[in-house]
Amino acid sequence: MGIVVENVSKHFGSFKAVDRVSLEIKSGSLVALLGPSGSGKSTLLRLISGLEVPDSGRIMLTGKDATHQSVQERNIGFVFQHYALFKHMTVRQNIAFGLEIRKVAKAKVKRRVEELLELVQLGGLGDRYPSQLSGGQRQRVALARALAPEPEVLLLDEPFGALDAKVRKDLRAWLRRLHDEVHVTTVFVTHDQEEAMEVSDEIVVMNKGRVEQVGTPADVYDHPATAFVMSFIGPVN
Ligand code: ADP
Ligand code: MG
Repeated sequence: MGIVVENVSKHFGSFKAVDRVSLEIKSGSLVALLGPSGSGKSTLLRLISGLEVPDSGRIMLTGKDATHQSVQERNIGFVFQHYALFKHMTVRQNIAFGLEIRKVAKAKVKRRVEELLELVQLGGLGDRYPSQLSGGQRQRVALARALAPEPEVLLLDEPFGALDAKVRKDLRAWLRRLHDEVHVTTVFVTHDQEEAMEVSDEIVVMNKGRVEQVGTPADVYDHPATAFVMSFIGPVN
């Protein structure tokens, strides 16, 4: 069922951060929200998550009207650019935390944590503390933590934005492989054209709070719908 955004707007004062956006994100797909800084990507992601309430319009998550559901009622996992891990907890404890507060049985938590450590390829590092990990490893722990409660939707806001170019490139390919294994509906915010092209099934190009184009990376690249998309994505930059 995925995610349906229907004519959603969000203003801050007189400023339209998200302006009459409609979108359909297919269940199990990996979609990039791509646009320059200030184009409304994070606001749209926060609206999908329930961290912001729209002024108008409707948000459907996996077939249900979620517009007025709290964050907790939506079955969502998040990773932000600076999504701090708990410093005083090991990798295992960080991943287990969300399961423990949901009162999942101990044996099940243990099993799930080991499974997730394998999934994010941090098998040997479960007893380390965040300060003993690289930036890329920390973001993989953050992803494992977000995936732990088996969310229906995963929202990533520039998750690799703070990392250096080489690590970002590795993590991109890694995220694609992870998604091919897990198939959770994923919305990925980035301002990096190459990242969007390489990782996603579909790209939503945003500009000034509006959607300029939705399409596969090839569609958007070969057939830009607007002058903005052409200048933002095109080979001539
Ligand atoms: P992006 O993620 O594409 O960089 P954002 O969604 O963060 O864009 O922001 C879009 C615009 O909305 C920005 O100009 C920002 O200053 C404004 N904005 C976002 N959140 C708030 C807020 N809570 N209060 C006031 N203005 C905001
Ligand atoms: Mg942002």
